[in-house]
Amino acid sequence: MAENQIDKIYNDYVERIINKGAKDETVRIALNRATNAFRKNRKEALNRYPHTIYLAEEVRRIKEYSIEHMDELVDKACASIEENHGHCYKAKDKEHALEIFDKIIGTGKTIVQSKSLTAEEIGLRHHLEEKGNEVFETDLGEFITQLLGNRPMHLLAPAINVPREKVAELLEKYTGEKIDHRDIKAMVNVVRKILRDKYFNADFGINGANVISADTGSMFIIENEGNARLVTGAPPVEIALLGMEKVVPTLQDAFKTVEVTWRYANYKMPAYLNIISGPSKTGDIEKVITYGAHGPKELHVIFLDNGRKKMAQDKVYKEALYCLRCGACLYECPVYEVTAGYFGKKYLGGIGTIWDAFTTVGFEEASPMAYTCLRCGKCKNACPLKIDTPKMIGKLRNDLKKKGYVPEAVRKFAEDILKMA
Ligand code: SF4
Repeated sequence: MAENQIDKIYNDYVERIINKGAKDETVRIALNRATNAFRKNRKEALNRYPHTIYLAEEVRRIKEYSIEHMDELVDKACASIEENHGHCYKAKDKEHALEIFDKIIGTGKTIVQSKSLTAEEIGLRHHLEEKGNEVFETDLGEFITQLLGNRPMHLLAPAINVPREKVAELLEKYTGEKIDHRDIKAMVNVVRKILRDKYFNADFGINGANVISADTGSMFIIENEGNARLVTGAPPVEIALLGMEKVVPTLQDAFKTVEVTWRYANYKMPAYLNIISGPSKTGDIEKVITYGAHGPKELHVIFLDNGRKKMAQDKVYKEALYCLRCGACLYECPVYEVTAGYFGKKYLGGIGTIWDAFTTVGFEEASPMAYTCLRCGKCKNACPLKIDTPKMIGKLRNDLKKKGYVPEAVRKFAEDILKMA
């Protein structure tokens, strides 16, 4: 890469993370409120269900096995999905995945979408909008982010950086109605009203999943709001986009994985756990199986590679594929605390840097992020699977050095970050 191009990457990133992220007072207020609540809730959840800590060790072993056998398990999951009357696809990269979406959806359609980082990874909403479709994010945080024209700032709480006053302002602008800037309940009701009829008028529902079991082809979706069950239940066609790393061998493995995920995501028990294995069906008239009873008539599941197989082949980086996206590490990260979602591109924080390097922006553009991480190890301590992010970042820095990056710019950037944290 030309030296001036590297400088540009660094300068843009420094501008974003230091001048925009770290100096944004609203980010600090909102993050402070959210971090305190998260730590308190997670502690209570783990005290109430102490077995989760041992279960997490088992889930680590499940993920190690699953990533080692990722290809074979995805094939098995596809066979199960097809047996359940669904359609299965394997997308090698972003472009291939978008092409599959285009073939299924076409143009001029209404789509409701529940939160999916994988959809964010391939820029799905923007792509579908560009193709002439109308897309509604239905997770409350994602909906706020969509109104803001921004990107998600946390794995689980995409609008973590937006305080209530700003949310009220956005909703007033969208609805033209006056909203009490202190009344969060009223704001939630407004969004509920806006989205209610969208679910039932949509042509397609798009969702991600926390995990999928290869033996039964069952997708598990953890949620609290109830939007994912409407997205996957109301429209006539459901399309699920899943990273290949989401597959585990059995239904029992999937149950263990989701329990650890929600506990470390600070929930004793989420309001809903959705399990979807195929399109809706009935055999109530003369035992003739007919698809599309009350839920979707069709189910399409797309497994995305987009760099995951490459990650799985490396003995250090493959650990990133064990990530459950519980978000626990971000709440402990001293850099995230002052910069929020500006630390990362599509994925966030130290582990997000590895994900961004392999799946979204590439190694070159991920390089300033590699030096944003302090390698303090707080993330590893907080992680249920003890994913060694500092080690992965160390390897990434070595790999970047081998590619000939500008040592002086990097060193100076790392010093600035250290001063900030
Ligand atoms: S790295 Fe660990 S703590 Fe962070 S989101 Fe993934 S599983 Fe959770």
